[in-house]
Amino acid sequence: MSNILANFIKNAISAVIFLFGIPFFVREWFYRNKTAILLYHDVQPDVFTKHVSYLLCHYKIISLDLLVSAIHNKDLSEIPPKSVVITIDDGHAGNIALLPIIMQYDISPTIYVCTQIINTHRHFWFRIPTLSKKKKEHLKRLPNAERLTHLSQTSNFEPEKEYEDRQALSLNEMKQMMHYVDFQPHTQFHPILPNCTETECKQEILGSKIDLEKHLSIECHHFSYPNGNYTEREIEFVKAAGFRSARTVDIGWNRSDTSPYQMKTIPISDDAGLIRFRAELTGIPQQIGKWVNTILWRITI
Ligand SMILES: [Zn+2]
Repeated sequence: MSNILANFIKNAISAVIFLFGIPFFVREWFYRNKTAILLYHDVQPDVFTKHVSYLLCHYKIISLDLLVSAIHNKDLSEIPPKSVVITIDDGHAGNIALLPIIMQYDISPTIYVCTQIINTHRHFWFRIPTLSKKKKEHLKRLPNAERLTHLSQTSNFEPEKEYEDRQALSLNEMKQMMHYVDFQPHTQFHPILPNCTETECKQEILGSKIDLEKHLSIECHHFSYPNGNYTEREIEFVKAAGFRSARTVDIGWNRSDTSPYQMKTIPISDDAGLIRFRAELTGIPQQIGKWVNTILWRITI
């Protein structure tokens, strides 16, 4: 399915959800005793400003640390109703443009970064321009070594190769941001963890914690699984590395009985207009999209 068609369908679904007033009811009833962790990637400042302004009028933006502490205590009574946490994955270079908005609105988002890609000219493998969406989905299912061999042979991609342009935040930018942003690790190179060997997996999880703590002279407590993929093995490695939480991309809200190592997410489209954004806060368009993608994948393989 072309991107234009997929976008049209998503906007149409969002418009229907909006017209039926579903965002209002979900906000008033569903967000009362549950907290959403919103997930962005490379959102542009103008879109982010609109989303944050809307959230500040209708929701309460809280820090990830506050939510994780409440979940560990199994008591969300201190969390205000209609709360959301803002998280941003990967550490894309464009995130620096969000700093004035983050400072203006005092929203302390969490940015999970790939610690061997930040401050280098290395590239994110999933941003290779010649990779189709279908190809990426196929690669996400291969053993890690096989995925890397394939990328090397077909796209001349190497994880440690330094390219001309920089895709991730520099250390200088992160140091400007760190008083307003909670930086946390998202592995070193963004592999699909369950497809890694035990040694690779441990290195990606613990290594990213050590890297980031050294880079910024901070302590890191929160982790997010690349592409949201995890098994019991990854949960054990994340706990053993000393993390207090891990965020998935499982769609849903977090409650007092949510496992801190399987925290749920409401992914937000980086280019969502306000109607689509309000629809996405219900989680419904994303869940429909997930079902459609699963069906299309099964039909086409
Ligand atoms: Zn990611």
